[in-house]
Amino acid sequence: MELAHRLDRVQEPQTIKMAKLGRELRAQGANIIDLSLGEPDFITPEHICQAATEAMAKGYTKYTPVVGIPELREAICEKLKRDNGLDYTPEEIIVSTGAKQSLANAILCLINPGDEVLIPTPFWVTYGALVSLAEGSVKYLPCSIDTDFKLTPERLEAAITPQTKLFIFSSPCNPTGSVYTREELKGLAEVFARHPHVGIISDEIYEYINYQDNHQSIAQFPELRDRVIIVNGMSKGFAMTGWRIGYLAGPRYIVQACEKFQGQFTSGTNSIAQRAAIAALKGGLEPTRKMTEAFRKRRDFVIESLGRMPGVRINDPKGAFYAFPDISSFFGKSDGTTTIRNDEDLSMYLLHNAHVSTVNGAAFGNDQCIRISFATSMENLEAAMQRMAEAFARLA
Ligand code: PLP
Repeated sequence: MELAHRLDRVQEPQTIKMAKLGRELRAQGANIIDLSLGEPDFITPEHICQAATEAMAKGYTKYTPVVGIPELREAICEKLKRDNGLDYTPEEIIVSTGAKQSLANAILCLINPGDEVLIPTPFWVTYGALVSLAEGSVKYLPCSIDTDFKLTPERLEAAITPQTKLFIFSSPCNPTGSVYTREELKGLAEVFARHPHVGIISDEIYEYINYQDNHQSIAQFPELRDRVIIVNGMSKGFAMTGWRIGYLAGPRYIVQACEKFQGQFTSGTNSIAQRAAIAALKGGLEPTRKMTEAFRKRRDFVIESLGRMPGVRINDPKGAFYAFPDISSFFGKSDGTTTIRNDEDLSMYLLHNAHVSTVNGAAFGNDQCIRISFATSMENLEAAMQRMAEAFARLA
């Protein structure tokens, strides 16, 4: 059968491709250290797993409302109040199969063919793919390492046109680890206040993995309250990637539109995982803080190690669990066998010669960099940094 043309709009994420390649090499006996993956290496805290076991024992094994069970939507509202000082009602929340589905719902509900969507780069790969699927037109706004990969109000102002429908960003950011401060968000919010036709998707999935300040949401500015869509979920902060619980908080009409879509695609997400998510949200943030502390130690080590490698430039990531070094100084260099032409060559060179799996920056909209995940053990990171330093040193 002929496949639908729609498929041409979507590519396999580079992150998944690199993980696959790494697995293949490992199966052939290579000792690959995988720094390509975007998931905590911790297992889900015990009390959350316990809540899932209890949910099964109590028979919570049936279909749930499409938007999620009322107790979970309430727990999300309590969390938004407790952690972010934001007032939402359960009717303004929809629970989905991961934050990824929340994003897909929102983008497919809002974007018509030709609508313009602004995305600062580097950005998380899925944003662009989903906008393409909705036949929207993406306008990327490149942000350089010199501004910690952050967008300035001036650049935002200059990019907005009458066709701009949406702005999508993440803070803390995957892949750069950059975190917008309250002041920086206020600067952007003032621009949005002058352009009431632009909606904002604020992806806050790395909220708790923040090494500096308390998390700040752009939804805190009252003038934007009716056009900010917060996307968040359990995957990163609670080490619950496999449970597939994400959510969206936003205006009621958008939640209702998402409900319509989700009702046809997947219905309510997993009933047991929803019960576990309540335990996670209500159970306090102690396990989350411990994990963040471990990420902080790894971050400090990785940033310091990369900083010492000649030819590598690095920003100072304040959140998430990624480093996004600029490695463009190696372009044109060779170890005598392989010549590095671009970011993809460098990522492949590291995979085959250092047995370290990374992701090339072009996959995130910046071909001068590579992404390194430090969501793995210190032991792995120490070995990986050593191998990378040696591999870089061989390039002349
Ligand atoms: N948003 C960002 C920035 C991410 O990095 C990820 C996962 O890698 C997601 C959303 C999706 O998270 P979930 O596992 O909840 O679908």
